[in-house]
Amino acid sequence: MKILLTNVCLYDCHYCINRRSSNVRRARFTAEEVVTLTLDFYKRNYIEGLFLSSGIVRSADFTMEQVVQVAKTLREVHHFKGYIHLKTIPEASDELIAQAGKYADRISINIELPRKEALKHLAPEKNIARTRVAMDQIKEKIDEGKEEKKKTFATGQSTQMIVGADESYDAHFLKRAGDLYGNFKLRRVYYSAFSPIPDSSVRLPLKSPPLVREHRLYQADWLMRFYGYEVDEITTQEQPNLDLQIDPKLSWALRNRQFFPIDINRAPLEILYRIPGLGIRNAKRITSVRRYSSLRVSDLIKMRVNLKKSLPFMMTADHQPAAMELDSEKIRAMHAPPAEQLELNLTPALPIPKIEVIGGEF
Ligand code: SF4
Repeated sequence: MKILLTNVCLYDCHYCINRRSSNVRRARFTAEEVVTLTLDFYKRNYIEGLFLSSGIVRSADFTMEQVVQVAKTLREVHHFKGYIHLKTIPEASDELIAQAGKYADRISINIELPRKEALKHLAPEKNIARTRVAMDQIKEKIDEGKEEKKKTFATGQSTQMIVGADESYDAHFLKRAGDLYGNFKLRRVYYSAFSPIPDSSVRLPLKSPPLVREHRLYQADWLMRFYGYEVDEITTQEQPNLDLQIDPKLSWALRNRQFFPIDINRAPLEILYRIPGLGIRNAKRITSVRRYSSLRVSDLIKMRVNLKKSLPFMMTADHQPAAMELDSEKIRAMHAPPAEQLELNLTPALPIPKIEVIGGEF
């Protein structure tokens, strides 16, 4: 059950319907009401747990106390065994964040936007330096909990970024995600497409980005976390946005045709991961099966490998793709959706700024 403790908020983040200047109707639960609701739904098997977030009311500490109170009552008074995810407020005291982690399975702090300038423009009250400090403290506590081998703190932290509310490129999102995975060991970065809100600020776009952009970012994020791709391989200075027509793995392969075809009977595992249409599970299966016999196309069919996508990029004992098969336009046309009439875009194209590797301060 995903719920807000209150939609009252002291902050004025332009992209949020609950911002201080919004004329939305306000409501507020007491901590006890959220506990009762959670238990009622949980006992009826309607929910598996609680995801609790809140606008900032009175102060960060006051709000965080209420959020912690819900989790503490559920765990200590009602011995609630369900999943609890608490959205924490970076400006809250260390003590309150530590308590949140004690009762929650997962805690998160939303980064919201990948660039410091974008945050300054759209969420001026967010204290980014403090967010980074809070994430670091959470990471330390998660690590300590793992060392003690008993649950003393949440087992993971995550964050969310809003896509399409500002001019940030996909490269900015992915570099930020890489920074967060690397420095704070985040479990997940969620990408949420911006959707226009009533009475919105003139600083915001009038339209949502295409939903496929969010999908491509998740695919690229997956490549970074599990397939060993670097951000700079997925996007480039010349192409800072992901290709919306084809997936980022295929897109990389078509930009690096000299890398292919790959001999699946000899290539190391991390090279097999680069073949479009071949997932981690099947790549691992290939490395174990080939110890006993050379793989042929019929073996890949049994493994249900996506041959339409992968065959032009691989060699097997009985398959060698013709050089022409790697012609990028032909492969691209096979996998891209049919062309559509584009809308007339009268917005002047922005120059592409240099996309720096983001480290240290946001
Ligand atoms: S702090 Fe959170 S709830 Fe408040 S305006 Fe910003 S995004 Fe909305």
